[in-house]
Amino acid sequence: MIYYPEYLQPKTLEELFKELPKNKKIYYLAGGTDLLNYLRDELVDKKNSCFVDLSKIKELVFINETNKNIEIGSMVSFNILQENNLVKKHFPAITSMCKTFSTPIISNRATIGGNIANASPSGDSLPVLYTLNTKIEIKNFSQTRIEDIDKIFVGPKKTNFKNGDLITKLIIPKQVLQKGFSIIGIFKKVGGRKSHIISKASIAISAISKSDYIKKINVAVGAVAPTVLKINTISEILNNKKLNKKLVKDSVEEIKKVISPIDDFRSTANYRKEVVSSLFLESISELFKFNFYD
Ligand SMILES: Cc1cc2nc3c(=O)[nH]c(=O)nc-3n(C[C@H](O)[C@H](O)[C@H](O)COP(=O)(O)OP(=O)(O)OC[C@H]3O[C@@H](n4cnc5c(N)ncnc54)[C@H](O)[C@@H]3O)c2cc1C
Repeated sequence: MIYYPEYLQPKTLEELFKELPKNKKIYYLAGGTDLLNYLRDELVDKKNSCFVDLSKIKELVFINETNKNIEIGSMVSFNILQENNLVKKHFPAITSMCKTFSTPIISNRATIGGNIANASPSGDSLPVLYTLNTKIEIKNFSQTRIEDIDKIFVGPKKTNFKNGDLITKLIIPKQVLQKGFSIIGIFKKVGGRKSHIISKASIAISAISKSDYIKKINVAVGAVAPTVLKINTISEILNNKKLNKKLVKDSVEEIKKVISPIDDFRSTANYRKEVVSSLFLESISELFKFNFYD
């Protein structure tokens, strides 16, 4: 007997939560670039599942500016994100990440909400969103809650989501910039090959700076621990400082310290530490237009 998951294609959020079955495992179908792999790998109990196709819900596709935030609908795809001027202006690290996200074909389908819900420590958007102190709006039937992005992941591919939880939008605070300061940001990753790269290690940096003076900096690393890590101690080292080689060296040491205990990747821990350190040096050199390698 062949079973197929139940399939729904609501046109509004109201319709979605009216039709959502309570007795089945819910899979939201966004771009499908991860979900179809779950099907292929037989990770879905088809008989007891319901696929809810989000592609007709226009309410989930937007990028808006409010007084304090930029809000991004969960069904925004990576190619739309890459071209968006609000994103370019306020969050250069996101634009940087989109440029290296997979291929144009995948970027055209893959959504930011799917990347978050997939909860892979190598998901490219995650370190960037950590550096931007992103909040996630989640709806389930009549309930809405807002969570900090770093609170929703409990392990590789695991979130604290309950069945039916739907990411509706990302809320990213805009930075208030004093005269002469600007927001800078970058994302870099290393993978096993040059195209279709899933990260083996990645880094995101977002900062407010004026020339080589750092007012505020956030650094997060991906794919080197069960969940993405924001390294707050680097902010403590570099915030309100004029950047110099000693501070960069201290930051590299800190990265090595923080990412060292990786249970599942023991054999590659040293390699990953070196790679992330190099990614940090490369990123900071590029952002501040000075070679910190020597
Ligand atoms: C060839 C290829 C290359 C890739 N390259 C990259 C890469 O460079 N970088 C990278 O990070 N990833 C990459 N990926 C992985 C994938 O494309 C991304 O994780 C993508 O962002 C997933 O989004 P989606 O819209 O396709 O999600 P789907 O596949 O539709 O969904 C993924 C999971 O999230 C859930 N979900 C989706 N939307 C929501 C929502 N709004 N609320 C709650 N749950 C939801 C689904 O139910 C499912 O469990 C690649 C995949 C492939 C096949």
